[in-house]
Amino acid sequence: MNRNIVVAKFGGTSLASSSQIKKACAIITADSARKYVVASAPGKRTSTDIKITDMLYKAHAQSVNGEDFSGTLNQIAERYAKIAGELGADFDIDAEIREISDRLKAGTTADYPASRGEYINSKIIAAYLGWQFVDAAEGIFFTESGTLDEAKTFDTLGGILKGLDRAVVPGFYGSLPDGRIKTFSRGGSDVTGSIVARAVGADLYENWTDVSGMLSADPRVVKNPRVIEHITYTELRELSYMGASVLHEDAVFPVRQAGIPINIRNTNSPEDSGTMISASVPEGVKRGAVTGIAGRKGFCSVRVEKSMMNGETGFGAKLLQIFAQKGIPFEHCPTGIDTISVVVNGSAFDSRRDEILREIKSVLAPDFITIEKNLSAIAVVGQGMVSVKGVAAKIFTALAGAGINIRMIDQGSDEMNIIVGVDDSDYENAVNALYNAMVNNA
Ligand code: ASP
Repeated sequence: MNRNIVVAKFGGTSLASSSQIKKACAIITADSARKYVVASAPGKRTSTDIKITDMLYKAHAQSVNGEDFSGTLNQIAERYAKIAGELGADFDIDAEIREISDRLKAGTTADYPASRGEYINSKIIAAYLGWQFVDAAEGIFFTESGTLDEAKTFDTLGGILKGLDRAVVPGFYGSLPDGRIKTFSRGGSDVTGSIVARAVGADLYENWTDVSGMLSADPRVVKNPRVIEHITYTELRELSYMGASVLHEDAVFPVRQAGIPINIRNTNSPEDSGTMISASVPEGVKRGAVTGIAGRKGFCSVRVEKSMMNGETGFGAKLLQIFAQKGIPFEHCPTGIDTISVVVNGSAFDSRRDEILREIKSVLAPDFITIEKNLSAIAVVGQGMVSVKGVAAKIFTALAGAGINIRMIDQGSDEMNIIVGVDDSDYENAVNALYNAMVNNA
């Protein structure tokens, strides 16, 4: 792969202390293609530590409640002073903290103080590296309604950065048309990294975090699941939707449009090659039919039965419309000849249950309505499944072998996932059985 321009984004745990920042900077300077760095705010150093961003939100909440926030700001100042001092970076933290304090007193929204976590950290890192600092507020723009102004952002940010040899850009925020700061949702530095990669036309977007890539199953359920070496954007989307998390959801779109691959890497283990995410898997990369397994508990299936339903035009549309009107998105919709099931989030359904059932009865006059609760959906995802025979047979054999009753089957129309519904109490066993049969011994 051509690696002339690499954008390297480092997450909060990768930059939580001076020793972590030194590791990150050693990674940055080890490859001259890493020209643009996107930094998060200092995250947790230990499991009981508090993220700087959380402290900034706390200071804002205290100011809104009329409480004294100076103690919180002092804690933040101390943490940064320690980092800058240990790095020997010349940086005036007091001036920055004074500015935050003044703006809090003047009644700012939470976005401004929240953004200072990445702003200050990036300034310190830029000083330590001797690189240029570029404020994200000058190059990342939101529209009045709060969505990213893509054209203006890619143009302006690209223009600024391409004129610089190397730069550090804070993650997580940009500016509104009136110049006020606006942040992305939590974890949004991933999005900034993607935007920067797109704006400079990078060959690769490296996302440095504290795990060696995306795992092929949830490590809380499966012991030591394998790292996925290569995954497509579409597979990532399917697995993330079903609960696997490695990147902010909105981070895929900017780079995907431009065909820039993402590489998830581990700052604490830089020799690991991590997970590569791209539009398609390059020739020569060997993968099994199944890339990963993810699932979620707590679904509910509403099964509606009516004889001769098959011949009644618009039955399904009317049924889904009822859920839509109550603001409940449907997740799956398996159908039979005279039955149709709508699988929805269980607690969302419970909150509107009576109204929905009343409406179904009055609009559709069904023979029966059956509600099945505590349903887990498990997705077995892999683009390779289309061309391999016997994948479904293997899935069902694995579940039967583990003594698990399948309560729903849904194959995505793109043939890259098979979703099985099992009882919530079978969830862990089912995921393990599927992992062992489809990923570990594939
Ligand atoms: N610091 C922000 C957060 O904690 C953004 C990020 O780390 O990506 O959510």
